[in-house]
Amino acid sequence: MRITAQDLYNYTKCKHRVYLDANGDPAQRGEVSAFIQMLWEMGLQTETEYLRTLGDLEFENLETLSIDQAAARTVDLMKQGVALIYQGVIQSDDLIGRPDLLLKRTDAGSNFGGYYYEPIDIKAGRGWQLRNGKRTKFKTHYAFQVIFYRTILAELQGYVPPVAHIINVDKEIEEFDPADFATEFDAAFNEVKQLVGGQDASEPVLCSTCHQCAWYRKCRRWVERNQDPTLLFFVGQNKFQLKQVGLRTVADIAGMDVSKYLKPANKIPRMGKTNLSRMKQRAEVVLSGEPIVHHGFELPTGKFEIYFDIEDDPTRDLTYLYGMIEADGHGDWRYHYFLAESPDDEEKTVREFWDYVSQASDAVFYVYSSKERSSLRRLMERYGLDPTVYDQYVGCEYDLYTDLVVKYSDWPSYTYGIKSIAKQIGFSWRDPDPSGANSIVWYNEYLQAPSRKDRLQRILEYNEDDCRAMIAIKEYFERQ
Ligand code: SF4
Repeated sequence: MRITAQDLYNYTKCKHRVYLDANGDPAQRGEVSAFIQMLWEMGLQTETEYLRTLGDLEFENLETLSIDQAAARTVDLMKQGVALIYQGVIQSDDLIGRPDLLLKRTDAGSNFGGYYYEPIDIKAGRGWQLRNGKRTKFKTHYAFQVIFYRTILAELQGYVPPVAHIINVDKEIEEFDPADFATEFDAAFNEVKQLVGGQDASEPVLCSTCHQCAWYRKCRRWVERNQDPTLLFFVGQNKFQLKQVGLRTVADIAGMDVSKYLKPANKIPRMGKTNLSRMKQRAEVVLSGEPIVHHGFELPTGKFEIYFDIEDDPTRDLTYLYGMIEADGHGDWRYHYFLAESPDDEEKTVREFWDYVSQASDAVFYVYSSKERSSLRRLMERYGLDPTVYDQYVGCEYDLYTDLVVKYSDWPSYTYGIKSIAKQIGFSWRDPDPSGANSIVWYNEYLQAPSRKDRLQRILEYNEDDCRAMIAIKEYFERQ
């Protein structure tokens, strides 16, 4: 049994993944998605770029050594007291970690002498999350990995410093206090030991990000075979509470007497009559295989229609495309867009979009998520854009996902994402593998090789089809 920092990272996303990575049949593991592959490559590129900034500073590079070779070499180098080790391997019993950097520090001693090593990871993102320019929380998955290395080093060298650091995507050092995560980390660490050791398997929790996971097909089969509650939209982690009160399958939920689960003995935390009734209805829809549309929705009328979709790359904290279909409501429409062909064009592009919005006060902007609004707000703060234009946009926005699909319909699907819903009503994308994650991959491929205009074309077609899918969904509701 070997526990790695990756296990701690995965734990923050999906417990069952930790179990499968250690105990699953490798033959049932699927291919790594292009998006995950891209994240790995970006991570490596970020590390390489950071190492270049070290200039003449010498460091020991162990990246080409196998785990066992690197582990032996790392201990030798630590005993020698070298200044910096890149991709060293530290080990203690069944814990094994490969921090990006091991930095020698001399403000305290350790088993090695008058110095010790501090583990530092180089991240392709930022550690501190910000709200209105203020730090809110340090990312748990970053913190867990560094604390894991510290756990090993505490054994290996007998000392760890009171604060911990990462190097972020801007090559800045970010500091956090490991004590803030102590209780959370201890609980996670104990659970990870159980999962890796096979004493606990947890269970699949089907959600919209599972498509990116190499175990997706296996989990999907398990969920369908067991008629697991996560086949229903909006159940997710709540399934564990449902199972505790005997609601183990979709059929159990479809057949439940809601009033029984409102009384103390069977009460499910944070689930009242409305939630349970809706869940029961969704279970009935999953069993029937037919969607239903509820009465009572109202769509904007008499307005110029704009179907609007943004493409963001969260790995670069970048918004690169604003795509719009302008429709006259009588079947005629035209697609146009503002595209940042390089990250440096982000400001220019959003300013073009701001001008566009300021001239569209009589329009309704149909979107299919809250992402557009939050991205525009972030960009307004970043570039000091006119807030009255933002307010005007918010006043003209209609979110088809939140205000229509989620509120007024039920579908035989665990996700109500645009791909799932539009495909169920017969809409198809021109691209054989359409997804927001793939759009990010294509954009990054273009940035790597700007002669590849076909990548941009693929993004634009995908974005246009997302807008067309919104039209199809809205028309579907109108027909009901
Ligand atoms: S497919 Fe989903 S549920 Fe299964 S291991 Fe991956 S993330 Fe977890």
